[in-house]
Amino acid sequence: MIDARPHVLHDHYDVVVAGGGPAGLGAALAAREAGAERVLVVDRETEAGGILLQCIHAGFGLHHFGEELTGPEYAQRVLEAALDGGVDVLTDAYLLDVGADRAVKLLSGEHGVATLDTRAAVLAMGARERTRSAIRIPGERPAGVFTAGLAQRLVNLHGVLPGRRVAILGSGDIGLIMARRLTLEGVEVAGVFELLPHANGLTRNVVQCLHDFDIPLHLSTTVIGIDGRDRVERVTVAPVDDHRRPLPDRAWDVACDTLLVSVGLIPENELSRQLRLRLDPVTQGPVVTSAMETSRDGVFACGNVVHIHDLVDFVSAEATLAGHHAGLFAAGRHPRADNVRLQPATNVAYCVPHTISTEREHTVYLRVRNPLERCVLRLSTPDGVVVHERKLRYVVPPEMVNLRLRPAVLADFHGDALQVEVLAR
Ligand SMILES: Cc1cc2nc3c(=O)[nH]c(=O)nc-3n(C[C@H](O)[C@H](O)[C@H](O)COP(=O)(O)OP(=O)(O)OC[C@H]3O[C@@H](n4cnc5c(N)ncnc54)[C@H](O)[C@@H]3O)c2cc1C
Repeated sequence: MIDARPHVLHDHYDVVVAGGGPAGLGAALAAREAGAERVLVVDRETEAGGILLQCIHAGFGLHHFGEELTGPEYAQRVLEAALDGGVDVLTDAYLLDVGADRAVKLLSGEHGVATLDTRAAVLAMGARERTRSAIRIPGERPAGVFTAGLAQRLVNLHGVLPGRRVAILGSGDIGLIMARRLTLEGVEVAGVFELLPHANGLTRNVVQCLHDFDIPLHLSTTVIGIDGRDRVERVTVAPVDDHRRPLPDRAWDVACDTLLVSVGLIPENELSRQLRLRLDPVTQGPVVTSAMETSRDGVFACGNVVHIHDLVDFVSAEATLAGHHAGLFAAGRHPRADNVRLQPATNVAYCVPHTISTEREHTVYLRVRNPLERCVLRLSTPDGVVVHERKLRYVVPPEMVNLRLRPAVLADFHGDALQVEVLAR
């Protein structure tokens, strides 16, 4: 289906990109367009395209391509654009290390262990799912407990159903999409159970995947036990109090042969840790400048490896920025320094990028901690002087907020730190 051209592995590249999802492919193309001659994308899977290849539902590309595409269609477009733009793509290869001199070490099915000389690197390794053990669900350990993404892969890529009657823990987008997907395949979905008092996925997914199929969503409820000898036979669910502690005396059993766990993604950050990059404790991805440069010179990052995106379109925008600067870096043009730190404050979990410049235009991505209606996004100095405000109709943690900042907005600001808050009006 998606076909990367055969290639020769050179000893030297201007830019090497770790990960061939939409972030890596977009960054590679932007690096080429910025003048880098040899650009290589390395992906550990046998096909490039990343997680999109298993997301066969529609809903991708409305911002970036101005039309609604399925995940594989989006992946096909970004892969073709990269190949047409002269990017080399090496699949079935794992990027192991980026040395202090930016020499890149990889392990390839075709080429064995290879060390490539490179001028700039882009990290675009995506994210991985949190598992049952990450949230410590007590109970037995029978077969039939899957992450939602693994179930998606089994159904969409291998044509295998994970079970016949399913309970889903977590209302993140993957869980919601799988509730609909499994229902369409004839599987009974007993319910979606969410610890928080609000759904944790995009509103459109709650409506299109649950409401439209009459699948119950139980908020402020969690799974407190898994029973079954060889295979899951039932899960025990219970409401939680305001401190998210389960109330076992109000628990009930849900008969099912499968539990899907959809409790969030975390950046695939082994390589980032190994390179001793500065990490953001909230996103768990690298701290980045407005050029998407990490704390290591010449090492850039974009996509889910930096922070979890709900829309791939914003991954592509971020990738273009990272790749552009990696391409310029390879030609000896280092990104201009930023002069302002962004500090997440009231009701803001994190901001990316972590620093900006008052002289350039930026898009700042942020997530709120709690839902709010009729609110205001405020930038102010640490001693409380308001620099910029934007009214918002509502905010919810699962939907990323984008703030476009033009230099004119910060013309009268001369400090080195800005607080970012989202407050009730
Ligand atoms: C189930 C699901 C549903 C979604 N639905 C939507 C939707 O409806 N609309 C929308 O716009 N967005 C949606 N998204 C979000 C969007 O798909 C992601 O934000 C986007 O694909 C992330 O791109 P990425 O390139 O950062 O990561 P990925 O697509 O995960 O790509 C990372 C790649 O890096 C490779 N890799 C990792 N480590 C290494 C290494 N060391 N060496 C070599 N290769 C490596 C991986 O194999 C992978 O191919 C959905 C995501 C999921 C998971």
